[in-house]
Amino acid sequence: MRPHIIRMHPSDNVAIVANDGGLPAGTALPNGLTLLTTVPQGHKVALVDLPAQSPVLRYGIPIGHAIQDIPAGTWVHERLLHMPQARELDHLPMATVKSPEMSPLAGYTFEGYRNADGSVGTRNILAITTTVQCVAGVVDFAVQRIKQELLPLFPHVDDVVGLEHTYGCGVAIDAVGAEIPIRTLRNISLNPNFGGEVMVVSLGCEKLQPERLMPAGSIPINDQRGEALDVVCLQNEAHVGFMSMVNSIVQQARRHLERLNARRRETVPASELVVGVQCGGSDAFSGLTANPAVGFCSDLLVRAGASVMFSEVTEVRDAIEQLTSRAVNPQVAQAMVDQMAWYDSYLARGRVDRSANTTPGNKQGGLSNIVEKAMGSIIKSGTAPIQGVLAPGDKLQHKGLTFAATPASDFICGTLQVAAGMNLHIFTTGRGTPYGLAPVPVVKVATRTDLARRWHDLMDINAGRIADGEASIEELGWEMFHYLLEVASGRQKTYAEQWKLHNALVLFNPAPVT
Ligand code: CA
Repeated sequence: MRPHIIRMHPSDNVAIVANDGGLPAGTALPNGLTLLTTVPQGHKVALVDLPAQSPVLRYGIPIGHAIQDIPAGTWVHERLLHMPQARELDHLPMATVKSPEMSPLAGYTFEGYRNADGSVGTRNILAITTTVQCVAGVVDFAVQRIKQELLPLFPHVDDVVGLEHTYGCGVAIDAVGAEIPIRTLRNISLNPNFGGEVMVVSLGCEKLQPERLMPAGSIPINDQRGEALDVVCLQNEAHVGFMSMVNSIVQQARRHLERLNARRRETVPASELVVGVQCGGSDAFSGLTANPAVGFCSDLLVRAGASVMFSEVTEVRDAIEQLTSRAVNPQVAQAMVDQMAWYDSYLARGRVDRSANTTPGNKQGGLSNIVEKAMGSIIKSGTAPIQGVLAPGDKLQHKGLTFAATPASDFICGTLQVAAGMNLHIFTTGRGTPYGLAPVPVVKVATRTDLARRWHDLMDINAGRIADGEASIEELGWEMFHYLLEVASGRQKTYAEQWKLHNALVLFNPAPVT
């Protein structure tokens, strides 16, 4: 294969080696340069001589400064770079960029399940909410029985899911920050894919009582029907023996399954999509192929009137200037700054430094530091103006592009996006992760063809074709957009759905445990 290097921005003084297996020393590059060292795939090569202290530019911004002289044609890895300091949060450009005019995209639809609160599900799932980890084993047992005995009787229901977590007791439930896991759990139970059919399994003596988790008025469909919260309490004296508890759960589940089974998909506008985007196991290709394609797709979704969320505070923190400037107004920009400031102090409490994000795999994949990772990460958000900012665990309120503040941890980010009301998830990966969620279809996008080839039955879309020169970012973005509508309609199942790959829901709990 001919040598292939990719430069992201005209002012960049490094480029990324695209070839599988990298390129050996002595390779003549298309720009006339000869490699002085071996450069692995996804890693940077100096395009010009970089004197010590000079900035190394990728995406047109300095991702670091050279520790020593780096001759043109040399591998530029993280050990040759000083990482720049994080941008202070004062004097940022607030809502200064006028977003490009985006013409509306009309006429795109999908087949979804319309809910009582106006939201639309892409799947029809019975979720069993739990107040506390203590009940997880019993709920798991009951869910297996429901799947075996009941689910075949209700063919219009896709799945039964126990919403298990490690919260609920042994925690300082009134501490500052405890509201985050509690509202997260509440809002997960109200995810559009669960049809408003909330049932709760409680132990009885736990700190997080059912009425605190789901206060009166929190379930729109119950209000309409005049129903109270449906709770199975394991410590209830009526239960004699384990099987009695299981039978109660199965019996209550039947009522909800009957109602869910009566629902049918109907044609709804693409504006009912609530798409969460995220990356995990990133490499230098993430910001070159998959994330730019997701960004293009995100713009298409916004043009179609849909909601798109991007997240992962520690992976966008270094791009804060670009985000505050893209905010639709100064209030939204300030809300973004407030979330970043809160997270800065959260990290400082744990005396965490900036090397905490970027994993060994990220570095092996060519990402030198968090600055480079952040620039490749925010491309997922496309070019639309940022309409809103969501605090962790809150429910999304408006259309367009939103910054949902979450940790970058795949499971915590995914869990918080489920709570926000996501009905479709796009997940890009370069190193590869078999990530999946039970409540929401996860569309996985590979950044490299080599990964897509090896993980052919895990990766739904191969964005490596962009690096291979076989597809443009625009073509792949459109392909993704159409694919999302197919998945949303239930006509297409993702690999994570096919294999039932379900990572745990992980609540973000910044408050103390006791
Ligand atoms: Ca992540």
